[in-house]
Amino acid sequence: MTINPHPDNQASNSQEMLLEQLKAVVGPAGYRTVEDIDERSYKDPMGARAEKPVLLLRPASTEEVSSIMRLCHAADQPVAPQGGMTGLVSAAAPLTGEIALSFERMRAIEDVDRFSSTMTVQSGVPLQAIQEAAEEQGLLFPLDLGARGSCTIGGNLSTNAGGNRVIRYGMTRDLVVGLEAVLADGTIINGLHKLRKNNTGYDLKQLFIGSEGTLGLITRAVLKLSPKPSSQRVAMCAVDNFDKVAELLVTMQTELGGNLSAFEVIWQNTYQLVDRHVPHATVPLPDSSAFYVLIESMGSDEESDQELFLNALSHASENGLIGDVVIGDSAVKIKSLWTVRDAAAEVHSGVGYMQTFDVSLAISEMAYFGEEVERRLRAEWPDAILGLFGHIGDGNVHIIVRVGPETRKLHQQIDAIVYGLIQEIGGSVSAEHGIGLMKKDYLSYSKSEQEINLMRLLKQSMDPKGILNPGRVF
Ligand code: ZN
Repeated sequence: MTINPHPDNQASNSQEMLLEQLKAVVGPAGYRTVEDIDERSYKDPMGARAEKPVLLLRPASTEEVSSIMRLCHAADQPVAPQGGMTGLVSAAAPLTGEIALSFERMRAIEDVDRFSSTMTVQSGVPLQAIQEAAEEQGLLFPLDLGARGSCTIGGNLSTNAGGNRVIRYGMTRDLVVGLEAVLADGTIINGLHKLRKNNTGYDLKQLFIGSEGTLGLITRAVLKLSPKPSSQRVAMCAVDNFDKVAELLVTMQTELGGNLSAFEVIWQNTYQLVDRHVPHATVPLPDSSAFYVLIESMGSDEESDQELFLNALSHASENGLIGDVVIGDSAVKIKSLWTVRDAAAEVHSGVGYMQTFDVSLAISEMAYFGEEVERRLRAEWPDAILGLFGHIGDGNVHIIVRVGPETRKLHQQIDAIVYGLIQEIGGSVSAEHGIGLMKKDYLSYSKSEQEINLMRLLKQSMDPKGILNPGRVF
């Protein structure tokens, strides 16, 4: 008797075969099968999605990543790359049928070069390990964000992460000299050099930075380091209105010059939420001002930096830009001021689930935006809890919103209000978090049809089968 195999069986046989081939590429330590994949490798921290992938691959080298992609390309198998799983736009958690590819075993710091001020790393290295390795050599890797302990440089690169010191050092994209990536078909693009000046046609590394794993998989990078500042001063100032905040920014940029390393603003609504709901943060000033500005200066001469900083603050005070000021002149005080700023992102732990936004807009629109977004949200939900804060030196605002216990269910209505306003004033629906799945419906609010068409054309030519992080971004 002969049995005709059912077509479905054929399909599952060929997937079975692919899985076996992939396991052979990475060896026993290089994969996890469904039953022992840890929740953190598939649960989306931003939503309810928790889809176990058929296989979690953990390659140990660029060559293994390349072999994996060659096989997946031949089999039309979609792949979801992942770093530390700390992203905020639902990009990394696998979707149905995807294989997850983690860089957790590619965590070598290969080289720190003091003469070219660069560090060569594999993409699974946690951000904090990079910061510490730079510091050991008297250097600074200036990218810094709350998730530093668990996020990886590969994730930072693929989302072009921002953070607190962009005003001085730029986004992740500005901190890269060379890059190595693997294309959808397994081709290795080796741009791993230390040349700061390299005008040889297209800057290919930028295709992989910020494209959220949709054009290629970043495997290694040469990062740009800076001299480690030896002085640090922080002040928190109370300010009456946003016009003064904007003037204060100009004053600090002019007077502190290159020493200005952070200009963070907390709106009164957020300041009060921090005071009430984040017990480990102690607000240093009364909560009656409209804005609180955290200013940081970092330089290389303790004495003259101190003088520069205090002079800038007293000029701002003489010109009526600031009211009360608290100066952090010791490590402990500096830390406690930063804790207040960081606590703005932790308010939800006391309040309950809050929808969070990451947008950017012109400083000149910022005062209007803050008032108008509140007005429009309250028109729908009079008791809404909301707060604004952000990296105002970069035009980047975060908004946290809770309209009640139903906030998560109502997210599309809340999105429509916030992103609708952003579109009206020509801002960006994503400043530093990316698009992922969460914002793709709103991509056209900030990118023209022609721009999106060009993005599609790039995607089609670099990943014709659409197997790299499919459905993310667009
Ligand atoms: Zn931020």
